[in-house]
Amino acid sequence: MAQYKYREHLMQTSIAAFDTRHAPGTTAENAGIYRCAGCGDEIAIAKGQKLPPLSRHEHEPGQRKVEWQLLVFAEQRK
Ligand SMILES: [Zn+2]
Repeated sequence: MAQYKYREHLMQTSIAAFDTRHAPGTTAENAGIYRCAGCGDEIAIAKGQKLPPLSRHEHEPGQRKVEWQLLVFAEQRK
């Protein structure tokens, strides 16, 4: 589970980007932390890089499918 210490540096929002589930190997539209909805694993990724393909994040047979969901995004000024 993602953790933080200083709440004043985070902001809760309801923007739709947090609801989308991304397939393995697709391009990350936001820099930040993504969580696998299937197993709960988390990764940090830069904007424009590809989310891990199935060859780098595999599930055991019988587990739910790999889908990456934005958990926290970094707000870059420029
Ligand atoms: Zn997973």
